[in-house]
Amino acid sequence: MDLYEYQGRALFARHGVPVLDGGVATTPQEAVELAERLGDRVVVKAQVKVGGRGKAGGVKLADTVAEAETHATNILGMDIKGHTVEKVMLTVTADIDSEYYFSYLLDRANRTFLCIASTEGGMEIEEVAKTAPEKVVKTPIDAGVGVTPEIAGQIADQAGFPVDLRDQLVDIFVKLWDAFVAEDATLVEVNPLVRTPEGRALALDAKVTLDENAAFRHPEHAEFEDKSSVDPLEQRAKDADLNYVKLDGHVGIIGNGAGLVMSTLDVVAYAGEKHGGVKPANFLDIGGGASAAVMANGLEVVLSDPQVKSVFVNVFGGITACDEVANGIIGALQMLADRGEDVTKPLVVRLDGNNAEVGRKILADANHPLVTEVDTMDAAADKAAELANQEA
Ligand code: GDP
Ligand code: MN
Repeated sequence: MDLYEYQGRALFARHGVPVLDGGVATTPQEAVELAERLGDRVVVKAQVKVGGRGKAGGVKLADTVAEAETHATNILGMDIKGHTVEKVMLTVTADIDSEYYFSYLLDRANRTFLCIASTEGGMEIEEVAKTAPEKVVKTPIDAGVGVTPEIAGQIADQAGFPVDLRDQLVDIFVKLWDAFVAEDATLVEVNPLVRTPEGRALALDAKVTLDENAAFRHPEHAEFEDKSSVDPLEQRAKDADLNYVKLDGHVGIIGNGAGLVMSTLDVVAYAGEKHGGVKPANFLDIGGGASAAVMANGLEVVLSDPQVKSVFVNVFGGITACDEVANGIIGALQMLADRGEDVTKPLVVRLDGNNAEVGRKILADANHPLVTEVDTMDAAADKAAELANQEA
């Protein structure tokens, strides 16, 4: 989960990383009240989960409250790279002597954590890496050791940060690492980290990504959830604890096990080439225990996607045997009908593995008008694609 700058800034503050006093506003009036509290010189910053706000006109300095109001009025509602600005953050301004770059991230490719530091801050680090790669210092961080003051000092020296700022930077680097670990982040980025003319080091921007797999350890992170920017279907799936990703096609997909669902997407995309180019509409893994209730929740999410024209239920029976799954599907259709849902889209079901024969017989006996049972994955994908193409 990516955080807004103001949320990342709050996390920084909680861990003792120096940031400037500020707050958020959703209307020009709120911005005026904030500016009055903060004092004359403030910076007004668009809160969107995308970089390059400065260049897009989403970061403006104001010398008076009236100017802050004008900036807030202009920035609220602005479109930045497809993101509408619904909030602005106002902070006290800092005068800037130099801008640096600093981050910790999870380096998946190298299976480690990585620190990236550069004296060339304020612009995209990818840009610096291209034009002046020698100015981008990358240091792997050993999770068992973490960032000690010694390691922080080495990073500061290697990156060429000014010596008179060293103590402050060591403190900031250690605290940012504490924040990274304590909050279960996969990214903590400060760009720019600045030096003021008075020789103070400050974090002027905060980009934080939290690891959602660790959300259960952080009930306090619930406040960061941003329901407005989440796809409503994905939100519904999340509320039902389902592993769902919305895609752009017409064939709804439900399977058990991430690997099986991934290969189902491939097989459906391939089959779709013969049927008007239809594609999978989603990824949905209902996991091992495909009970009627879980199946009903999954079906409900997939069926409520208006783009879905047919559904392919692909189950390999394991601990949950196919007869239970078959009963689950029939039960789920009944449950949805009882709830008054409009269930009219055709389902293609393929059952294999534990008790497949029994499961298929249950479907045959139920003789549900919307359900077609097909024995193999390829043939079932073909049937689902054909039905989606007919309905589209
Ligand atoms: P981004 O463009 O989305 O990364 O937004 P930033 O928060 O990094 O702001 C962009 C630029 O605006 C920074 O690199 C700074 O040069 C400038 N800026 C941001 N906050 C302040 C501030 O408090 N004072 C001054 N003078 N400049 C600021
Ligand atoms: Mn920035």
